[in-house]
Amino acid sequence: MPDFNRILVTAALPYANGPLHIGHLAGCYIPADIYTRYQRARLRDIKFIGGSDEHGVPITIRALREGVSPQQVVDKYHTMIKDSLFNMGISFDIYSRTSNPVHHKTAADFFTKLYDAGLFEEKETEQYFDEKANVFLADRYITGTCPVCANPNAYGDQCERCGTSLSPEQLIDPKSTLSDAVPVKKKTRHWYFPLQQYEAWLKEWLLEGHKEWKNNVYGQCKSWLDNGLQSRAMTRDSNWGIKVPLPDAEGKVLYVWFDAPIGYISATKELTADWDKYWCQQDTKLVHFIGKDNIVFHCIIFPAMLKAHGDFVLPDNVPANEFLNIEGDKVSTSRNWAVWVHEYLKDFPDQQDVLRYVLCSNAPETKDNDFTWKDFQDRNNSELVAIFGNFINRALVLMHKLCKGKVPPLHAALLDEKDQGLISEIAKAKLSIETSIEQYRFRDALFEVIDLARKGNRYMQEKQPWILAREIEEDPAKQQLIDNCLHLCLQLTANLAIFVNPFLPTTAKKILHMLKVVDKMLEWDNGGKIKLLSVGYSLRAPELLFRKIEDEEIVRQVEKLNSGKINTETVEEKKPDQHGTKPEIVFDDFGKIDLRTGIILSASKVEKADKLLKLEIDLGFEKRTIVSGIAMHFNPADIIGKQVIVVANLAPRKMRGIESNGMILMAETEGKLVFVQPDSAIPPGSAVS
Ligand SMILES: [Zn+2]
Repeated sequence: MPDFNRILVTAALPYANGPLHIGHLAGCYIPADIYTRYQRARLRDIKFIGGSDEHGVPITIRALREGVSPQQVVDKYHTMIKDSLFNMGISFDIYSRTSNPVHHKTAADFFTKLYDAGLFEEKETEQYFDEKANVFLADRYITGTCPVCANPNAYGDQCERCGTSLSPEQLIDPKSTLSDAVPVKKKTRHWYFPLQQYEAWLKEWLLEGHKEWKNNVYGQCKSWLDNGLQSRAMTRDSNWGIKVPLPDAEGKVLYVWFDAPIGYISATKELTADWDKYWCQQDTKLVHFIGKDNIVFHCIIFPAMLKAHGDFVLPDNVPANEFLNIEGDKVSTSRNWAVWVHEYLKDFPDQQDVLRYVLCSNAPETKDNDFTWKDFQDRNNSELVAIFGNFINRALVLMHKLCKGKVPPLHAALLDEKDQGLISEIAKAKLSIETSIEQYRFRDALFEVIDLARKGNRYMQEKQPWILAREIEEDPAKQQLIDNCLHLCLQLTANLAIFVNPFLPTTAKKILHMLKVVDKMLEWDNGGKIKLLSVGYSLRAPELLFRKIEDEEIVRQVEKLNSGKINTETVEEKKPDQHGTKPEIVFDDFGKIDLRTGIILSASKVEKADKLLKLEIDLGFEKRTIVSGIAMHFNPADIIGKQVIVVANLAPRKMRGIESNGMILMAETEGKLVFVQPDSAIPPGSAVS
């Protein structure tokens, strides 16, 4: 890192409309934390910046659906996310939020500078508008079919399946996510950032200048640039967000992807008065850790904004990860197919390092990867417990047994090939771990750490100090061989603490405690040496670093995952409780039911079915045949002309050979049925909601 004097690390701002899941951790927070802890151990000047992204459409949608304010939504999830990150040991120097005043000012000033320089195009365009909900439909207010991969659930700003960035106009069969209405076009005015003007510069800066970026990142950027860039609206019609700082812009806010990355700058301002040293001096190395869905925003749009602004450094690297699937299926928060971090921490207390270990050793660094509970158990039991923990435990137990609880001396004249081999493995491991971390290959780096512990186990197995101990009476010189073996094993233990510290910080601390040494030993430059522990120094009794994870625990987690999974079939199958109330549903489920007013035009008994009446219903826009099980309660002639409420989109069903197209709502008490009705006359076909 000779060209840089300081490092600024950012991790994607998690979106404050839901809790954190392990895909988020694997995507950017764990890699960013490993990188930061490693650089801190190298005593480099580094700042690690994070915060919650609290603006944008999904938050307003959630607030609408839950009947609370957007502020209440973000307050709840900001706290939850922050706690999860903190408890997982993600060591931000600051974890801020984009609703803070300093961020509003920073983002508005950024916009103003670009505006004053005449860089925005002001355009009046026709945009999709939901007449039912009375809002313009941008971003996640609108869904439709992706024109690239045919995903039927692509959003108005992006297809999450293929990663393509979209505009609402590109969606096939667009639909409002608020009301399911087919939207209409309506005029609105916005400020566009002309990305195409930065295309040539981006090609040179990124495609020519950053060939070292990860293939998955470079490839996605290249395809974007090859397809050509277009102007992009940087404002939205909304009342939630950062107000457009112009006099005639009532009801307009900054686009969330304009303001969110500026949040890194705002948070740095909050952290230190020296913020401009990190953001404005060219000898800062800026690294954005993100998941693959954010590549375009961090590699194309934000750099173009930074370039246009002119005061700030550009990213040196954007080591984005791909997605982590769960048990072979894509993470979906709407289907509740996820492992939630706050729940993991409750179910596996004090085992955050196990999850850090599994998510790093299985990280989706180059392609999508799969998390399974079985693999979680295997990696814990056969790697952390059986290799890493086992080596350190044996070294300490044997030292207490064979060397009186003190670091034994090293008899240099007696060192053999195996001893020398271990010493050189320790030095080699340091170099390969640091090379891998500097190149953002964290899986490889962690593999080296475990492999070094594996070599320690092998060394101990070959030396067999417990056998030597039996021969001491005959040959007291054997004690010197025992000393050498355990001296080296303890020095290796100290090295393992240094090497594992960026990955498993809690484990490193536990090793320090057993070795009775201070945090300063973890400085990276101490690694690779075998003089970390002084001869004659007495050490604490060993404690187990990891525990075996049992089959039952894994079975319970898999059951939990499957039982939490939301799909319509299982919701319908759930039995009502003793009061007859049904399990909770989400608004989306209710929103699928099309309820309409209707009028009974005719009613007649169904042959050979004494419970059924065949009804003709006027729904205004059409007439329907509905078969209803009310014949025991009503005389057909008495109900003609009655107003009713109809479930109009129920799938057709044949009863006694008659196709029934819908259902009439009835209320029941003590076996008696009554019609559910509007309390005054209303035209048939009116929507009920
Ligand atoms: Zn797509």
